Amino acid sequence: MEEKILVTPKSFKNYRHKAYPLLEEKGYKIIENTFGRTMTEQEITELAREGVVGIIVGVDPLPGAVLEQLKDLKAISKYGVGMDNIDLDRAAELGIKVKNATGTNNVSVAELAIALMFAMARKIPYHSAEVKNGGWNRSIGFELTGKKLGLVGCGQIGREVAKRARGLEMEVSVYDPYFRDDGFLSQYNVSRIDSLDELLSGSDIISLHLPATPDTKKMINAETIGLMKPNAILINTSRGELVDEDALYEALASGRIAGAAQDVFSSEPPAKDEKLLKLDNFMLTPHIGAFTGEAVEKMALVSTRNLLEMLGHKE
Ligand code: NAD
Repeated sequence: MEEKILVTPKSFKNYRHKAYPLLEEKGYKIIENTFGRTMTEQEITELAREGVVGIIVGVDPLPGAVLEQLKDLKAISKYGVGMDNIDLDRAAELGIKVKNATGTNNVSVAELAIALMFAMARKIPYHSAEVKNGGWNRSIGFELTGKKLGLVGCGQIGREVAKRARGLEMEVSVYDPYFRDDGFLSQYNVSRIDSLDELLSGSDIISLHLPATPDTKKMINAETIGLMKPNAILINTSRGELVDEDALYEALASGRIAGAAQDVFSSEPPAKDEKLLKLDNFMLTPHIGAFTGEAVEKMALVSTRNLLEMLGHKE
């Protein structure tokens, strides 16, 4: 039987000339996502039901019900970091190995988080639209320098954000109960706060850098937003599921907090009539955090090498 690899991420094609030869020289046939969008469960099942031993996956869904039908599947290599689209428990039960490409896109996502902070502070989307519409009105902004930045999650991305924010002379605090590297905190003069409530209530800007799990789902909700300062800005480049979007809408529409910028949403793309998109103090980018030439190249190569390693090939 010819062994096949399914490659689902759309942006992988930019670097397939470097990645595919690594798979082909081991004798694998490559099948691609030809839909030009995230694949559905049914499409994945149909394409990978037989002969597919490995999948390089983006954000396409791999729940237990799909994994159970892919009878030759041995390994899933995540092209990126967040693995919330994969049923990790079921994969383990089925003996399917899973690995993510950690550390490949942390700089790109961190730079986007900082960009979103500036975009909100200086209302860049509003001002750009104003001029393009023939106007010249100005809405007053604020400096990031000296502001208190609260990071929820201090992993690969959170740490890169912290370093850059310190370069901007922001005061940086982190809440991450699992983070142990005190050397990092002292090197960059970052403080640790052991209570999420305290971090939320003391920060001017709150930026989320943690995975979406059953425990963290909707961690930003009416109650936790209620702790935030009225001038607070929320930045979310992690996952839409972390935020209760109805509660966020209420808070932004009523002016309870000043603004929010996200690169992710509970359903991507959002519905055309999504109410948050009608607000001037909300901005959304289309999941571009890792979408840079640098990150895409690293994700393509690292996810390919990870897959080969899981399939038992040595470098
Ligand atoms: P990481 O695993 O290096 O770091 C995650 C950190 O979150 C860890 O330090 C962990 O201890 C911490 N954490 C876990 N649960 C927590 C909790 N309840 N409270 C506080 N901290 C908690 O991952 P990373 O590379 O920094 O990525 C973070 C997230 O960013 C990913 O899970 C992914 O969802 C998202 N992401 C988005 C994009 C994008 O394109 N927008 C790209 C890459 C990653």
